[in-house]
Amino acid sequence: MSRSPGQVVLPGSAIGVLGSGQLGRMFAIAARRMGYRVHTFSPDSDTPTGQVADLEIIAPYSDLDAVRRFARNVSVVTFEFENVPAATASAAAECCPVRPAGEVLHTTQHRLREKTFLSRAGLPVTPFRHVTSFAELESAVAAIGLPAILKTADFGYDGKGQFRLATRNDLAAAWKGVGEREAVLEAFIRFELELSVVAARSWKGDFVHYGAVENQHVDGILDVTVAPGHVRPQVADKAVEITRAVMEKLGVVGVLCVEFFLKADGSLLINELAPRPHNSGHFSFDACVTSQFEQQLRAVCGLPFGDPRQMSPAAMANLLGDLWTDGEPALTAALALPNVKLHLYGKLEPRPGRKMGHLTALAPTTELALRDVLEARRRLTLRR
Ligand code: AMP
Repeated sequence: MSRSPGQVVLPGSAIGVLGSGQLGRMFAIAARRMGYRVHTFSPDSDTPTGQVADLEIIAPYSDLDAVRRFARNVSVVTFEFENVPAATASAAAECCPVRPAGEVLHTTQHRLREKTFLSRAGLPVTPFRHVTSFAELESAVAAIGLPAILKTADFGYDGKGQFRLATRNDLAAAWKGVGEREAVLEAFIRFELELSVVAARSWKGDFVHYGAVENQHVDGILDVTVAPGHVRPQVADKAVEITRAVMEKLGVVGVLCVEFFLKADGSLLINELAPRPHNSGHFSFDACVTSQFEQQLRAVCGLPFGDPRQMSPAAMANLLGDLWTDGEPALTAALALPNVKLHLYGKLEPRPGRKMGHLTALAPTTELALRDVLEARRRLTLRR
């Protein structure tokens, strides 16, 4: 249903969002601005998406009757969270188009399926082995070598469920760490930098992208994005070309992000895929003619894409719950930098490591944007 062109979903219609985090919130803001109604579905209440949606439906993803009721009341369903169970996506698809299709989620919510798809498609992916027992872990280490990283096969994000293996002595702890269940062993890549490309694809195959941006992670969580990234044009073009191939082969209608490792020899390896707007594309909200969230909306509604052009160099810094440990951050001090935009997601509990918001700085160069966004974030820690 969702792969074939359908009727255009026009403003005034209701869009369903499975998931209720910050990605859904920014999607809902883009959708409401264009006159759509937004219904969100997740097990939680007073959520980042629910706070700005027209309707917040609170039910477990496993309540398929509730999912069908939700899908019957909207014109199209999309996702903001890719770990929605496949049965949930199928139940929604009985009642209305689901974009991107449930098969895209099925592939990308499981590391092994995702990596197998990429390597079969001839796309460059980090060397990996499937591991289902300690003995298989030992032979995977013998094949791949050390250092390596053991990752749970499913439901991993932001570096969760990942264990570094430096020596053979680390094997037992890592196997215990992944819960002695299906996992993927990956070669540890000594990359020069991490890049990502966020792009959108329509049901007609039209494609728009935001170029290659540069990402820095801390403890496995995205910390800072600089756009455009400091890479040779040939590298950026190659990353975009790979992203386009991924989206075509997966048949994505919507937004997808490809995260890459760039090695010193200029080659690229895919680390992972996210079939939705991505944290590394948040700069597009303030810096581009059309944000990644609006492109998702346009893609799932069958509208023409907006111009993705970036109007200014930009840098984005995430705000984690840690900034709230000693009380409210000094928001006024940060906002004294007039070229810095504040986004807060309305999360009620600021836990350490939890993404509470982000800052985006716009400046004449990426160096200045990075300087200002880091300065604004530093000011948040100044106590009044
Ligand atoms: P992931 O959740 O798999 O994207 O991992 C989070 C971060 O951990 C990545 O962005 C990298 O900084 C680091 N990382 C993950 N896998 C590898 C790898 N195979 N080699 C080197 N660093 C990695």
